[in-house]
Amino acid sequence: MTDFDYDLFVIGAGSGGVRASRIAASHGARVAVAEEYRVGGTCVIRGCVPKKLLVYGSHFAEDLADARRFGWDTSAATFDWPTLRDNVAAEVDRLEGLYGQTFANAGVEVIRERAVVAGPNTVRLASGREITAGHILIATGAWPSVPDVPGAELGITSNEVFHLPALPKRAVIAGAGYIANEFAGIFNELGVEVTLATRGDRMLRSYDQEIVGKLLDISRDKGIDVRLNFPFKGVAKQADGTLLVDGGDAGMIETDLVLWAIGRMPNTKGLGLESAGVTLDKDGAVVVDDYNHTNVPSIYAVGDVTNRVQLTPVAIREGHAFADTVFGGNPRTIDYAAIPTAVFSNPPIAGVGPTEDEARALYPALQVFKSDFRAMKNVLAGRPERALYKMLVDGATGRVVGLHLIGPDSAEILQAAAIAVKAGLTKTQFDDTVALHPSMAEELVLMR
Ligand code: NDP
Repeated sequence: MTDFDYDLFVIGAGSGGVRASRIAASHGARVAVAEEYRVGGTCVIRGCVPKKLLVYGSHFAEDLADARRFGWDTSAATFDWPTLRDNVAAEVDRLEGLYGQTFANAGVEVIRERAVVAGPNTVRLASGREITAGHILIATGAWPSVPDVPGAELGITSNEVFHLPALPKRAVIAGAGYIANEFAGIFNELGVEVTLATRGDRMLRSYDQEIVGKLLDISRDKGIDVRLNFPFKGVAKQADGTLLVDGGDAGMIETDLVLWAIGRMPNTKGLGLESAGVTLDKDGAVVVDDYNHTNVPSIYAVGDVTNRVQLTPVAIREGHAFADTVFGGNPRTIDYAAIPTAVFSNPPIAGVGPTEDEARALYPALQVFKSDFRAMKNVLAGRPERALYKMLVDGATGRVVGLHLIGPDSAEILQAAAIAVKAGLTKTQFDDTVALHPSMAEELVLMR
């Protein structure tokens, strides 16, 4: 026992904070967690979960169109945005309730107000109450960036997009990363005229650019107006309530909605970290070592707030490793190699390992195998879009070092294949596996 109120005080009940709290409590720690908004964090409340449900919901547009070629009369089908929006919101409410239950079962006290750091072992709640803890974990996540341009406040971010009262007729999505491409797909399917505009010359910089090129072509074929090299100079509201987006030399775009999807910054503003002596980097991220430890002995951080890999499954692992390290007598770190990732665009992209460009620098004997095919379902549906699978093999060892896919269900397919990449299996071992026919995934064992 110590003189502190708690052994661990967690700020932020998102993916990383929830896992860390629960595991620390299971190791016998007395744990409290503060959450200023809703329990579950970005992923559950306004990220991965509602986004994926919107992806499903919007994809029915194509599915219904394709269904006619499979003999179904879908002519009476109509779409109602409030129904989808509210059903998704209800599911989010249900999940939030489950998270609350998880805390109760684990014996973690939940304090539903903002907490800031007031010293190495002290936090201050919004109500002014001060609480002491042997350890403090910062798990406050990240916050959508908004550019510093006139009229930026006329746009919305992914925080608001799930609650739109009505779908706009037209939307400009700023950025060309994960959120931009995912919402471009969702809005496009739901009948919104989408312009995806980005300042640079490429989309999804961290993904294999041949795969991204395919997404660009398919997106344009679906009617998404993709504008590269579009500098956002400002947004203005016109007399009729519509918005005018100023792209400087790239021109003006008139629209009904602007969605900023230009990255997410670590959520450390006003958190009191500087006063406690915690080192932040130039972007405001909490600097930690491999054990999620800051420079202050009693303070740790996990998840997006550290700006290492902004992904839920990574934050969960970091939170778990932190709890095992500090309270479970089992110091351990996370292996960041070969993390599979996906963009739930339409169609989705998924990848594991280095891109082809990166792999060329790493493996002088790199071999690239490709399969460019049309999914069977698309053939019968009369849908021209093709899938592309790329396998990167280190010729020196025969090992598959990277897989990059675009096509239907590519995230589902990649998760299983990523196990083989992580395990260091060879192309020969892929080839020795009998194809599961007919499937799209069989392409992975048929590349010659
Ligand atoms: P991303 O980092 O994916 O993409 C940011 C995009 O915005 C890039 O195209 C970038 O262009 C552009 N950009 C950056 N700054 C500016 C600026 N000042 N003005 C105009 N454009 C700008 O960010 P997201 O917001 O889409 O997502 C944030 C993070 O959340 C992701 O990195 C990812 O880690 C996570 N996420 C993961 C998802 C998943 O796993 N499926 C889904 C959604 C989010 P440039 O490349 O030229 O810099």
